Order: sequence, then structure tokens, then C-alpha cells
Amino acid sequence: MLEKVYLSNNDDGENDHILGMIEQYSQKSFTGGKKDGEVTRADRTKSAATLPTPKLPAAPHRANTFSAGSTPQHTKRKTSSLLPGHNSLVMSPSSQSCVLGVNTDGVLTDNSNMMWDRSEEMIENCHRWDFDVLKYDPKTLLRYSNEMMHYYSIMDTFEVKQTTLQNFIVAVSKNYRPNPFHSFYHAVAVLHVSFMMLSTVGCDQFLQERDVFAVLTAALCHDLDHPGTTNDFQKASLAPLALLYNDRSILENHHAATAFKIMQSDENNILDGCGRDDFAYIRKLIIELILKTDMANHFDMVKKMQIVADSDSCDDVKGAQFQRDNDAHRLEVAGLVVHCADLSNPVYPTFDMTQQWCFRVCEEFSQQAEKEREIGLPVTSFMEGLTNEYSIAKLQIGFVNYVILPLWKVTGLLFPKAAQHTVNCVHNVKKWQEIVDGGESPGTPGGKARKLRELAENDKSDESDESDESDESDESDESDISEEEEDIKEGSIKE
Ligand SMILES: [Zn+2]
Repeated sequence: MLEKVYLSNNDDGENDHILGMIEQYSQKSFTGGKKDGEVTRADRTKSAATLPTPKLPAAPHRANTFSAGSTPQHTKRKTSSLLPGHNSLVMSPSSQSCVLGVNTDGVLTDNSNMMWDRSEEMIENCHRWDFDVLKYDPKTLLRYSNEMMHYYSIMDTFEVKQTTLQNFIVAVSKNYRPNPFHSFYHAVAVLHVSFMMLSTVGCDQFLQERDVFAVLTAALCHDLDHPGTTNDFQKASLAPLALLYNDRSILENHHAATAFKIMQSDENNILDGCGRDDFAYIRKLIIELILKTDMANHFDMVKKMQIVADSDSCDDVKGAQFQRDNDAHRLEVAGLVVHCADLSNPVYPTFDMTQQWCFRVCEEFSQQAEKEREIGLPVTSFMEGLTNEYSIAKLQIGFVNYVILPLWKVTGLLFPKAAQHTVNCVHNVKKWQEIVDGGESPGTPGGKARKLRELAENDKSDESDESDESDESDESDESDISEEEEDIKEGSIKE
């Protein structure tokens, strides 16, 4: 509701589009400040370590208790063969069929002897902003997920066995559907940017070790079993999940619940080694972080952060406002990390990366429009007609200006090492604008977007798992934005 009030001032016909885009993404919250020597990586404190290990209650059964008369949530997608997730080595059909069921099987389905070895090269790639998950196969992304979970000392601190972590990651991957956008690829992409926000931007300095554990876990799990349709679609179609969660943060509730259902199996329970207090804290935080990815919270969060950013020009004063021993303050930082990561596609360092994800979300929109038409629901207007780059570019520009830029601008003010992303964003918008300026071509419906993606897929299939990522960044355009870049870094970007 909040965003509708906020956007009601923009009576230019774009609101429906923006609101719809908002519904597709996820998000979260505020603050700045730093205390010396509080890097969580080295923080090995563990409270209540000697208390009995909490056990998640056993699932009574995994039946779909809302299956009667429900609309199937997982329909076969015409274009799924174009998407890497479809041919995943880890996807299991059994995980896709039941709205409330969960596949807790942490065993790979391809019978290959997957190696979970870690390497310097992998951790180096994890530290690159241009790490492009779409260039890797799902099995390799399991290893990257493992690598990022290991970077901090959380596996040791919270006594997570390597086999348990592996099982958990595999089970999580199996519970993502092969949607064009909301797939395991998106999960790993959000994990990666969350990881970068912690380790490179420095958000970890505001958090405790258990916060870091929750952030990384929530990032990986935040869209579990996403059906590829929006909360509004669940409501309008009276989907089982809408009934279960009474229309409130329907999908986000489901993602969080699915994460803990996966952990109900002992072999997947990465929280098994936590003491009682840490378990309660981490569980609560994971749930909070995932629920906050409901875009209904977005503008409230941006507004809150802006107040903090504007409160004083003196960084020291800003820093004094943040109290690391205040759970609510840390929650704001943790939430901001996951939210920014979830909304990071438009701020990627290369337009190619941004464009591929934009095509994917538009493909998912088109599929929802198709479903709406099939079942007789009013078709969501902005999801129609996304058949060429021109219309996709127009939609993206509006979404970025209303939603993405305000978030990343204020994040850059609070965390200066994140300021580059606003520069990237402006750069990418310019590219979209060039497409709009080129006018609408009468090309074949969906032709160019799909062809580009097919090309990308073909390229990827030619690469080895450990491709050395030929850098495809648009460096030739860097000079175009140098002046603007300086303005942005100084917080004076003009819209
Ligand atoms: Zn997401």
C-alpha cells in the first residue's frame, strides 16, 4: 500500500508499470556508522554454545494441504529450454510439483561425482562485481555458493559440517523452479551481491557473525519455490498460497517457510550446531530478511535511509547513531544488504549483464500475462507487449528511475564503497535510452530479446565450467560518464 501512496503523485500513466515491476522484485532497510575492529570475519564469539542443540520440529507430513481445487502453480514453459536452469543438473521434477511440499533431498540427481573443492580462483571470482552467474552451469554454482558460505568463519563458529552445508545447498537448488528470472541463478546472483556488500562494501563491519550467517542464508533462500508469478497474481487467482497466508506477503512467507522446511531434515540442517539462543536469533533474522524482500517495504526503507543520510553531514555523527549492539540497527543493515542485492541487476557493471536479466524478467512477465489470459483474469497491463527491445527498454527506464536509483543513491551515501553502483546504473540507463531513441522496430515479436539470450546461452554452453570469463564490459563507453561519475560519487547526481 505504501508504494501506491508514494507513487500517486506521479500521475503520468507510468505508475501501473512501476507498481507491477515493484511486485516482481524484493527488498529492505537503513544506516551507517562504524566501529574499529569489528569485522565479523574474525569474530568467533558464540553464545550459548553449550546449550542443547535446538531441533526443528519434524514435519507431520509433506502433503499439500491446500491441494483441493487449486490452480497448478507450475506450468511448463514454452521457452524454458532456452534458460540454463531448465537443464540443471540439480533440478528435480519432484521438487516442482507441490505448492507446499519441499524436496529435502540433498543428493545430486546426475550421479556424477561432484567435487566440492575450493580454490583461490573461485574466491577471487566471488570478489568480482562482474562475476556473472549466467556464465556457469548450476553444478558449478553450487560450489560457488559453498565458497561464499565459507568465506567468513561461520561454518566453524556454528559448527556446520561440510556435508550438511553441501546437502543444504543442493536441496535449496532443487527447490528453485526453472523460471526465466526467479531461478537458482537469481538466488546465487543475490547471494553473490550480498556477499560483496558484506566483504567489499564493508557492511560486515556493522554486523555480528550470526547476522552474516543469516544474511548469506537468506540471500540464497529468499525466492525459494517462486512460482514465476506475482503476489497480485496469487491473490487474484486465489492460489493456495494466498489462502494460506491471507494475502499478506504471500510469496515471501512461502520462501521463508520453504527454507526452514528444507532444514527440517537433519542432513540439511545447517543450524543444527547452533546453541539455542543463536538458533532462535538466526531463524528470526532469516525470516525477517526474506519477508522484507516484499517490495511493499521498499519506499518506506528508502525514505528511512534517506533520513539517516540527511541527518548530518558529519560521518562521525552518523556513525554515532549506529549501535552495533542494537539488534534493530543491525537488522536495518542486514536488510539493506539483501534488498540491494535483490535489486542489483540494473546496477551491474556491464550492460550485457543487466540486459540479460532484464530480458529474463520480461519473459517471466510475458508468461504471467499469458496465464492471466488463459484463466480469465485481467491482464496486467505492463506485462503485455514486451516483445521487443524498445518496449522492454521503456519499462526498464521507468523502473530504474523510480525504484532502483533512489535505493542505490542513498546506499552509496551511507556506504561510499557502494557509490560506483549508481554510476553503473546511470550508464546502463543511457544504454536503454539509446534503444528507446532508436525507435520501435517492427521486428518479429520477442525476436531480438530472445535471440540475444539464445546467443548468450549458446556461448555459455561452449565454455567450460571454470570459464575464465572473458571480460565483456563496455569499457569503451566509460569515458562518456566520467564527469557524471564524479557528481554521483559526491552525492550530487541529477535525475
Ligand atoms: Zn529475488
